[in-house]
Amino acid sequence: MTDSLDAYLRHYRSLAAQVNDLGWVTTGSIVQRFTACGRPGCRCQADPPRPHGPYYQLTRKVAGKTTTLRISEADAKRYSDWLANGRRLHQIVNDMHHVSAQAIQAILRPSDPT
Ligand SMILES: [Zn+2]
Repeated sequence: MTDSLDAYLRHYRSLAAQVNDLGWVTTGSIVQRFTACGRPGCRCQADPPRPHGPYYQLTRKVAGKTTTLRISEADAKRYSDWLANGRRLHQIVNDMHHVSAQAIQAILRPSDPT
């Protein structure tokens, strides 16, 4: 039991170390959009049409309200990294719960009624 507890603890510590190395974390989503303006003679009205864009649209919750914001391609790239970090953090926390549950299962002993 001690061996497995040590193994659980090592795994747990390595997960915690991964959290330590994560950059900014966030939630939301980014979509790439192309648009047509409808102005006669514009390239977006040509045949074949050449739409405007790409534009990057960020959707996220701010103070409980869903908000949409147009952001630059560079910021879209940065935000995508933060989104990936957020997903990774969620996964790591799930793994920490899982390893903890195994350790706790090994530690806890039923006690006799007194
Ligand atoms: Zn146009």
